[in-house]
Amino acid sequence: MTEVPTYGMLINGESRETGEWLEIRNPQDDSLAARVARGSTAEIDEAVTAAKRAFNSGVWSKRSPVERSRVMADIAEKMAERIEDLVHVEMIANGATVRQATGFHVGIAIQHFSYFAELAGTYEFETALPPQTYPTLGQNIIRREPIGVCGAISPWNFPLVLTLWKIGPAIAAGNSIVVKPDEKTPLSLLEFGRIAEECGLPPGVLNIVPGEGVDAGARLVSHPDVGKVAFTGSTEIGREIMRSASDTVKRVTLELGGKSPSIVLDDADLQLAVDGVLFGCMFYSGQICESGTRVLVPDSLYDEFVERLVRRAKTIKLGPTDDWETDLGPIISAKQHQRVLDLIARGEDEGAKIVLGGGVPEGDEFRCGFWVEPTILTEVTNDMKVAREEIFGPVLCVLRYQDEDEAVEIANDSIYGLAATIWSSDNARALELAEELQAGTVWINDHHQVNPAAPFGGYKQSGIGRELGANCLDEYTETKTIYLDLSGDLESRPYDLLLSHDEE
Ligand code: NAD
Repeated sequence: MTEVPTYGMLINGESRETGEWLEIRNPQDDSLAARVARGSTAEIDEAVTAAKRAFNSGVWSKRSPVERSRVMADIAEKMAERIEDLVHVEMIANGATVRQATGFHVGIAIQHFSYFAELAGTYEFETALPPQTYPTLGQNIIRREPIGVCGAISPWNFPLVLTLWKIGPAIAAGNSIVVKPDEKTPLSLLEFGRIAEECGLPPGVLNIVPGEGVDAGARLVSHPDVGKVAFTGSTEIGREIMRSASDTVKRVTLELGGKSPSIVLDDADLQLAVDGVLFGCMFYSGQICESGTRVLVPDSLYDEFVERLVRRAKTIKLGPTDDWETDLGPIISAKQHQRVLDLIARGEDEGAKIVLGGGVPEGDEFRCGFWVEPTILTEVTNDMKVAREEIFGPVLCVLRYQDEDEAVEIANDSIYGLAATIWSSDNARALELAEELQAGTVWINDHHQVNPAAPFGGYKQSGIGRELGANCLDEYTETKTIYLDLSGDLESRPYDLLLSHDEE
């Protein structure tokens, strides 16, 4: 019997255990994949103390941006060397297929961390304004300084990428950080922690405390020495975090849920739109915040489009995650598996028609683990629960529209506003339509394109603030204005506005 690997948490550069363990289960067969030391309130407190000590010592915060950039570039390089280890843990903890884990979960993580390494060296930490002449001659210097200790709370779907979106800009700006990864998927991040230490990131700058949201997560949000919290997860927990962070007036960025529409226009290249819509929704079993889960199809094309969608979706092959032939893996957990199946049933109750899938795939290999067939629901209307709530499963809802105005109305009729796609052969028409959509990202004729130089985040209840983009360090810095008098003498000051009488 092979031994199950164990992982400690990372506090102050040391691997720590507490005697309590989180069991990491492989979603493809529900087997035990690893044991991870479980942290709670006490370990978060310890990690914050270590982060604060590291920050105040200046060992990282006072290092030159170029030196910080160099260490971060080494980390990105070492991640590339260890790609197989990182891919392996994303497969066994996340249920990602080997193709997807290589190209997306880990490939994108390396690319994005390299971008943050570059930003660390090029970001404008200091800007001098042109000298002012009124009311007196002086100079203003605008400085962006690290906040101090930042906190990051991340979800299970892209544990590495989405947490690096927080660690990268935070440490590039000179902060220390305490991370609370999702309790189901902390492995890739703990591997990253080891790499960062090996590359010379000083102890205490990055601390990783796996644990539950209710204790470890909540403590990180309420801790008085944490100046900023970056959270990716559900809108429900996002609201709770915002409330709790207000007690200590913490800075917050929130990346929350989505129910992204894919609008197929009547001039779309249908072959491209069919493949693109399926990639947009089914990739990683729809467990992506910006998945295109509602496809809006013109009435005139509806039947043909559905027929082509079903035919193409039937080619999606479920199977072992480590097989390069497998297209789709399992759902993350038993709880999420049941939720997806319940929502499909609810859709049917409300009048949607299941034209593909709808249940657990047949076959012995799918009896254990958390499998759901690629599912297509037609005749969905936007008032149904399946069209309003995030399903986070391989479930595509097909809605009908009569004209473009109605498509925009349906697309925007959601509490969410994370992303949208438009499928059209007319770029000018698509660009015009993009202006009407309430979404942080609009992709035209593609999906899941996340460029690290382009800001990512949501309108409405999909979040607050943006991650990525050239200005992403702004979210991890305080702005300080320094004024330097250049006039020199007393006479040129406007103090006579107050002091107009001579001394006795
Ligand atoms: P979740 O909100 O349940 O959990 C996210 C994280 O918050 C986990 O680490 C969890 O332990 C922690 N947490 C839970 N309760 C907490 C509390 N009271 N205080 C502090 N932390 C707490 O979300 P999930 O199910 O893990 O992830 C799926 C959700 O994440 C979906 O809604 C999805 O749309 C969203 N998501 C958004 C983005 C984005 O960029 N907008 C990206 C990925 C996922």
